[in-house]
Amino acid sequence: MMEEPTDHPSNIGRRLEHVRQRIAAAAARCGRRADDIRLLAVSKTVPPGRVALAIQAGQTCFAENRVQELLAKAGELPDSVTWHLIGHLQGNKIRKALEVTRRIHSIDSADLARQIDRIADEQGLHIKAWLQVNVGGEDSKFGLSPEAAEVAWETLLGLPRLEWQGLMTVPPFDPDPEAVRPAFVALRQLRDRLEAAGGCRLPRLSMGMSHDYEVAIEEGATDVRVGSAIFGARAHR
Ligand SMILES: *Cc1c(COP(=O)(O)O)cnc(C)c1O
Repeated sequence: MMEEPTDHPSNIGRRLEHVRQRIAAAAARCGRRADDIRLLAVSKTVPPGRVALAIQAGQTCFAENRVQELLAKAGELPDSVTWHLIGHLQGNKIRKALEVTRRIHSIDSADLARQIDRIADEQGLHIKAWLQVNVGGEDSKFGLSPEAAEVAWETLLGLPRLEWQGLMTVPPFDPDPEAVRPAFVALRQLRDRLEAAGGCRLPRLSMGMSHDYEVAIEEGATDVRVGSAIFGARAHR
């Protein structure tokens, strides 16, 4: 996709506007309402001062993939920000994470789901939960296989403190966004099967990143996680 030529901080507002316009256009192409798609600005590695520029430009939802960084940034930025956790969560960091977020996209095992449920119960919290599914079957990626998700679903649905929103995936990277489309379709179809099996609603699909969010929207994404297209290229992660 088109990028601004530099990553000077003053470009953040312009890039955000550009991404929002593309989200609206992708939604219009497939007869969806732009309002039904939530843009999560992925601020990992981005210093709080630059995140603040995105807040000034009207962005309210941000996502981080590491608990330490999430806590540090949440502490420095206004309480009006809604934080989402999108990275692998270790059991010993659940309590910390719940200090600043009740929205976890990266529930990548039944065991982690049970641990979060138990701690949320102790603390009287309800967690908005996405089950992370490894649709590409890559060894390097977290998440349940689609088959394992179907097997575990009844148990997962029975965890009272987890309010399942839907599914999340990080598909295999391909520079051609069209090549990623089958992974988005697979996540949506798994969602449909889990809804039917559980007699439940899973309205949200967390899928699509900077280079493929438009295709993800065409396949039903409701939460797109966009980092570098807003904040510029990262050195790592
Ligand atoms: C980093 C990250 C993103 C955003 O990636 P970009 O390509 O910079 O948009 C989205 N989802 C997860 C889980 C990430 O770790």
